[in-house]
Amino acid sequence: MDSLRNVVIIGSGPAAWAAAIYTARAELRPLVIAGEQPGGQLMLTTQVENYPGFKNGIQGPELITIMRQQSERAGTEVIDQNATKINRSNNHFNITYSNNSVNTRAVIIATGAVANTLKIPGEERLMGRGVGTCAVCDAPFYRGKDIVFVVGGGDSAMEESLALSKFAKRVVLLVRRDALRASKVLQKRIETAQNIEIWYKSEARELLGDQKLEKVKISREGSEEVHNADGLFYAIGHTPATKFLEDSSVKLDEKGYIKTGLNFGFGALEHQSKFFPTETSVQGVFAAGDCVDSRYRQAVTAAGFGAMAALDAEKWLQSK
Ligand code: NAP
Repeated sequence: MDSLRNVVIIGSGPAAWAAAIYTARAELRPLVIAGEQPGGQLMLTTQVENYPGFKNGIQGPELITIMRQQSERAGTEVIDQNATKINRSNNHFNITYSNNSVNTRAVIIATGAVANTLKIPGEERLMGRGVGTCAVCDAPFYRGKDIVFVVGGGDSAMEESLALSKFAKRVVLLVRRDALRASKVLQKRIETAQNIEIWYKSEARELLGDQKLEKVKISREGSEEVHNADGLFYAIGHTPATKFLEDSSVKLDEKGYIKTGLNFGFGALEHQSKFFPTETSVQGVFAAGDCVDSRYRQAVTAAGFGAMAALDAEKWLQSK
């Protein structure tokens, strides 16, 4: 492996692979540190119908596999390890992964985000045993089951409920407020589904069961109830995978999203030049995708941001 790389990309979702394809085609010979469980959120998705180019849709894991193959074919090297640290050292960066490290002139961070959970009693024990974060992935396991809960009131919760409703006899959405956050089109689909109910002002408090989820304790309009449950899925948003940056100089917002010119405005980060909107608070470190973007969070927008970060990194390297 080269002793000083031009660019190292951290992550393995659409933003990372798009950045890899662009930097490889610019002959920067990128290295992707992809993580031990590579692929990001698309690995937990089934059919993707809103990524342009696939007229019949495509399975999420297959889309990620193709992206990776495309970037490798363009000349990208990949390491399936977790990056744990970025240090600045003279005129380059040193990135630690596993028991190893790599030196690079520029970095693109595209580590994505992970699903939030409620951290209520029973959750840790029952995660993967009836409790999960991707109903779209697990829905077929609930064929013929009596009742499955989904926590959340956003678009994800609607999609998860619709996926489950094809298999389970009854799906109940637990919504903490008295209103949904989801888009009207998805709300309408929920309303017309025969076997989906919405319980407003309802929150899961405890998950009960030994080997698998059996019951859930719910606070519903102020009173506590215990209901049988075959499954419970969280759809309450995501947290950016940026913890490894906390000791670095890369500035994060209060929720942990990486600050760049794109989300904080050109010039918001003192040194920032208008020419490198995907640059972070550290010159030479760029960021893209769901670890930056709490707003759009789509595979196609992440891929677009990845391409932008690659073009910025290329120009930045040329300017050195
Ligand atoms: P979201 O829009 O942020 O919604 C999160 C939901 O979880 C909200 O209803 C929120 O309640 C609830 N929630 C958050 N913390 C909670 C807690 N501790 N206890 C109980 N409920 C809690 O997240 P999302 O649904 O994952 O969507 C993220 C983005 O992706 C959105 O921009 C969405 O439009 C997009 N998306 C689009 C599609 C699609 O177009 N097909 C599909 C999925 C996602 P409050 O409303 O009370 O805050």
